[in-house]
Amino acid sequence: MKKILAANWKMNLTNPEAQHLAQDVLSGVQTFLPSVQVVICPPYTALTTVRSVIAASGIRLGAQNMHHEPAGAFTGECSGPMLLSAGCDDVIIGHSERRHIFNETDSMIALKVKAAIREGLRPILCVGETGQERDQGLTFNIVERHVRSGLSGLSPEDDIVIAYEPVWAIGTGRTATPEQARDVHAMIRNLLKTIYPERYQMVPILYGGSVKPDNIGELLAQPDIDGALVGGASLKAESFNRLIEIAAK
Ligand code: PEP
Repeated sequence: MKKILAANWKMNLTNPEAQHLAQDVLSGVQTFLPSVQVVICPPYTALTTVRSVIAASGIRLGAQNMHHEPAGAFTGECSGPMLLSAGCDDVIIGHSERRHIFNETDSMIALKVKAAIREGLRPILCVGETGQERDQGLTFNIVERHVRSGLSGLSPEDDIVIAYEPVWAIGTGRTATPEQARDVHAMIRNLLKTIYPERYQMVPILYGGSVKPDNIGELLAQPDIDGALVGGASLKAESFNRLIEIAAK
């Protein structure tokens, strides 16, 4: 399986800034694109700008969220068909900032995952425990609940990516150790085996949480870590391109 490097730009970058960063990423990583799958997830306002920069390059475009209904009176929301028409391939669903700041529940997230599949978008389903849950020994219970609920009602052939993102490691500079990440990824793989016995090895499981050029190598060396979802380090071409270069080796 090709490693996947996904950039989550969060609520950052105006259109001109997004255009520059996408151009710098594209020109810096073109030679690595045959061996790494790169996904850029800008804010909604910059989707079409980034799409035009990366057109036909092989870099995929992702959104950071979506509503589960295709259209309607949902002021401020954006739907699957809209994302598709902006050129998206992927959509991040259930990011911990959506779960914890915007109070998205497991059932809302499950609806969004189903809607993304229905529209032909590949969901990047984020799962992960808080620091308090880890301290209470609940990591596996929480991650299992997130995965089971996020995948409920899907078919084995549905194209999906799972991102394990321990909440305590996101934007904190505190990365999970390779062993901590490996143990949770192995647990997710085993769980997938019970849900999708035929295809469990083909579902990419990314790690996310303060991934940087100096820690990605040992994370990607672990079994079942198929790539990374990157926040802070994806906002500078220098660090994101370096991550791609390391993942390509
Ligand atoms: C994220 O937002 O998904 C993330 C992993 O952020 P950071 O890399 O900044 O921890």
